[in-house]
Amino acid sequence: MKQDRYTRLKAIKDFGYNINWDDLQKIHIGIIGVGGLGCVSSEMAVRCGIGELSLFDFDTVEMVNLNRHMFKIEHLGQHKVEVARIMLNEINPDVHIYCFNDDIMDPTFEQQFENQIDTIDIILNGLDNIPAREYLNAKCINHNIPYIDAGASRSGLSGYVHPVIPQKTACAKCLNSIGVNMPDERGEPCVASLPSTMAILASIQIQEMLKYLLNFGEMIDYIMYNMIKGEFLNYTTQRDPQCPICGQTDDHYPQCMNVKISKKKLDEFIDEAEKRDDIW
Ligand SMILES: [Zn+2]
Repeated sequence: MKQDRYTRLKAIKDFGYNINWDDLQKIHIGIIGVGGLGCVSSEMAVRCGIGELSLFDFDTVEMVNLNRHMFKIEHLGQHKVEVARIMLNEINPDVHIYCFNDDIMDPTFEQQFENQIDTIDIILNGLDNIPAREYLNAKCINHNIPYIDAGASRSGLSGYVHPVIPQKTACAKCLNSIGVNMPDERGEPCVASLPSTMAILASIQIQEMLKYLLNFGEMIDYIMYNMIKGEFLNYTTQRDPQCPICGQTDDHYPQCMNVKISKKKLDEFIDEAEKRDDIW
């Protein structure tokens, strides 16, 4: 039998799972944030053989980023997305990679961002701040795009992964509304960052993405990882009918696919999030 770079991946089929690995080549994924999570998830995604990848990040590589995968000293000062594109295409030149060296929160980029995510099958969140996460959550719900949310705590010692399927599972805002009993630390702009924690979380993101795209196994609901105790905690979530993002309570913006959440409403959410002491 002819062997190629996907031979070992396709061999999973021999263990009783009806997986058509070649389907990945038709898939376009988006990775928002090429940081501790995105560096790992993007490499795994291209090694798995996805067809297209859109990368979003407006940062340049700094010395403090060198504790992470992907970046080298020679990359200092360069745009992260450009470095990532070159590195990832060296690993797998068959993947079409589109780079957006833009802030997804920049209003002048909003239309282009929406146009691009409309071409994407699934998004992996690698953002590290509350407003951007809230923004991405709203955009994914509005545009009916599944996404795998994830984040590490400020200490870098714990984190979570939460697959969000619009109109089917709880969105990130539903979790706030319901007040799922979760640990205090839920991610914030990097204070401490442990590459091993990030790699674990990014790996779970990829696992969930593969199960969703290739339709095998069981998706997790919401998982917390605590490296100090070495434990994973599974939480059951439920959609909040009152959720301002995916619920059905706003007469002016009835929730259904392709109805836009007003910018004003979104700004209110972001203001509210910025005022909070708790972290996301
Ligand atoms: Zn919701």
